[in-house]
Amino acid sequence: MNTMKRKKKIVLPKKLKIGAHIWRVFYPKNELNCTSSESYDKKVIRVGNKVNFFQEKIPTKILLDLIHELLHVIDEFTGHYVFEDKNGKDDEGAIDAFSEVILMIICDNFERIIRAIVKSGFPLKRMVDKIHEED
Ligand SMILES: [Zn+2]
Repeated sequence: MNTMKRKKKIVLPKKLKIGAHIWRVFYPKNELNCTSSESYDKKVIRVGNKVNFFQEKIPTKILLDLIHELLHVIDEFTGHYVFEDKNGKDDEGAIDAFSEVILMIICDNFERIIRAIVKSGFPLKRMVDKIHEED
């Protein structure tokens, strides 16, 4: 019997559809202390591995960084720039705070969201099959 605790493996999206475009999402492993970023022109999101000293990059932080970058993309996509301060600079603290709340709401309501999608007759199986085709 294997008594070692298995680490939960997080499956992260390599592509995301935002509007009419497919964005590629990268999680660089070999670059040390790589920060997260997005390129609206190239339709690329990089979720970095930069961590505080003594800290391991935990799955929650990876998801938070992905949501953070998505909020930058959404801000530009919508053209509303709600995260820009008075000087036209991104308010990274506000984006971090929204990322935390969005992830919290998704995690706390994931089953309710999926149940509502299934009950509304959304073609979930076809959606999942399509996702596998794209990967
Ligand atoms: Zn940022």
